[in-house]
Amino acid sequence: MEHVFPTYARFPFDIVEGHDVFLTDNNGKTYLDFTSGIGVCSFGYSNELIQNNLAEQAKKIWHTSNLYDSQIQDDVAAKLCNGDQLAFFCNSGTEANEAAFKLARKYTGKAKILAFNNGFHGRTFGSMSLTGNPDIQAGFTPLVPGVEFANYNDDEAISLIDSDLAAVILEVVQGEGGVNVADKTWLQKVQQAAHDNGVLLIIDEVQTGIGRTGTKFAFEQFGLEPDIITSAKALGNGTPVGAMIGKKKLAEAFGPGTHGTTFGGNKLSMAVANGVLEQLTPDFLKQVQAKSKSLWDKLNTEIKPLEHVTDITGLGFMVGIHLDDSLKVGEVITQLQNKGLLTISAKYNTLRLLPPLIMGEDNLVKGVELIKDVLQ
Ligand code: PLP
Repeated sequence: MEHVFPTYARFPFDIVEGHDVFLTDNNGKTYLDFTSGIGVCSFGYSNELIQNNLAEQAKKIWHTSNLYDSQIQDDVAAKLCNGDQLAFFCNSGTEANEAAFKLARKYTGKAKILAFNNGFHGRTFGSMSLTGNPDIQAGFTPLVPGVEFANYNDDEAISLIDSDLAAVILEVVQGEGGVNVADKTWLQKVQQAAHDNGVLLIIDEVQTGIGRTGTKFAFEQFGLEPDIITSAKALGNGTPVGAMIGKKKLAEAFGPGTHGTTFGGNKLSMAVANGVLEQLTPDFLKQVQAKSKSLWDKLNTEIKPLEHVTDITGLGFMVGIHLDDSLKVGEVITQLQNKGLLTISAKYNTLRLLPPLIMGEDNLVKGVELIKDVLQ
């Protein structure tokens, strides 16, 4: 690629076609997909309802701006929100977090926000400033001021939550930061301290949401009731969409002219999001939970005992296989590609698995066996 900035270390093949949970590259090689395009294509690559919704909408109208009512935005918002929430639509995860950051400051009239080491919230200035990874921030200072960091799952963080803060932002499973799962009791203490001090709780569900961990949002499994939730990735199954969902009371700070984006809530993305949410039924989520259980049984019996595996962490269809220093995750990923399996990495030499949620147990087992072969 000669004409594109080299911001990504790309593998030397181009994925040109997808069907179900399989992808084919420009050399005609087919792969079983354990990535979903970094947690995006949870319904795979040829979902009929999504394809039909997109094609039908494309024939009607693509773009109208946000100057007019949009029934399709309201339909998606109704599926996304509970009765006490409203949605703001944008185009990506980082934009959803920017919206949350702005809303938290404006609603509370306070500037400070507490975020966590190894958290990831995006690459634009606000979201990057909330991202607890100095490698991602390097070279871009000065960052947005007012952000403090604490250690994840550490009680010291609770003592930092005081009435000077506008918000606390966190992922309940840190994806990019190494697939680190939050402790339920710790999360509830964070929530309690936030409530006691008039601090908003923002949960970033960009990677964990839309069924990835077995529930619509991962926080549901931790007994939380966030003030703001951010979503993106799987919400559009590959079309660019982000959403910030917030409690209705916050609307007083987000009136006309306060925030916006030209493409946010565009009708093509909304048609896809409608198709995604329509299929994210309790029954579908039950199937994801049942398949997750078999996946984790297999991981615990076949992969965890392997010599170079130090731990396996995650929740549902979000898995981190932690490797010791003698194996480089990049080399493992390349060897798996050679065997026809696509995987990705996370921080700290972690092999990350994010299979499409529609994957059947036979293919989940096949993938785990390929991983076992390579790790052995
Ligand atoms: N938040 C989380 C938890 C993410 O995992 C990501 C992307 O990986 C983002 C935010 C940023 O999303 P986007 O790349 O759509 O801007």
